[in-house]
Amino acid sequence: MPNDTAPTGAADLALIEAHIRDVPDFPHEGILFKDITPLLNHREALAAAVAGLAAPYRGIGVDHVVGLEARGFIFGAPVAMELGAGFVPARKAGKLPAKTIDQAYDLEYGTATVEIHADAITPGGRVLIVDDVLATGGTGRAAVELVRKAGGTVVGFSVLMELSALQGREKLPDVEPHTLLSV
Ligand code: AMP
Repeated sequence: MPNDTAPTGAADLALIEAHIRDVPDFPHEGILFKDITPLLNHREALAAAVAGLAAPYRGIGVDHVVGLEARGFIFGAPVAMELGAGFVPARKAGKLPAKTIDQAYDLEYGTATVEIHADAITPGGRVLIVDDVLATGGTGRAAVELVRKAGGTVVGFSVLMELSALQGREKLPDVEPHTLLSV
């Protein structure tokens, strides 16, 4: 059952946390991967996650939800439906078929690029960015710059889980990320 508009309570957060699986050394040695697939496959946990991601942004006017490839797509589309907004996929370079706007960002080794379609954001459109995990904040920072380049106003950044030791939040002082869980 979809949740109502109540803020996500402690029981919901415990349910969400219980369905995120830690996978050590994936995809590389030393990385503790936060696997959300058990959560996606549990209807109450999934509903609680979507409701919790959307809750702070109800009634503030959101025109577009931008979801970050790939797990941000899974949460972003239902969050957009809950908020009465459209959904915009932000993809890795070369995946979107029409004219794009892009933003490069630094990885540990090298750089990566995120793209959205150039006509995806209405001028001055109010945008919520959604992803599953906030780690170093590099992807999130690039997404914020990308939305601004596209003429949108970032009104929020909603993430399921924050890996607080990596201090990604410090790269996003201007958007104050909303995170359901902090580990
Ligand atoms: P970052 O740019 O470092 O904040 O990384 C954020 C992106 O990488 C998100 O799209 C996450 O899905 C993914 N990510 C980073 N670290 C992890 C992790 N430990 N477990 C799962 N996903 C991760």
